[in-house]
Amino acid sequence: MRGEYQELSCPFCDKGKIQAWHIPSVWMEKRSGRSSLGKGKKVIRSSDVWLIKSGCSNCGKCPEEVEKKLRELNII
Ligand SMILES: [Zn+2]
Repeated sequence: MRGEYQELSCPFCDKGKIQAWHIPSVWMEKRSGRSSLGKGKKVIRSSDVWLIKSGCSNCGKCPEEVEKKLRELNII
């Protein structure tokens, strides 16, 4: 499985560490029909995937709350 572990700061107290699994977005080439000269190629980007693995050990927020807050703050 692609991805890597990341440690994020807790968005609530900023002191705790949140364990998260991050699967980075990838660029994918999508060839369309006749493209012998490389034209007509489309590049699409998948979205980042974040899986929050733990809550905050400092302030006690659960993973669901942390994930929601991180999304609100556009961190993930
Ligand atoms: Zn916290």
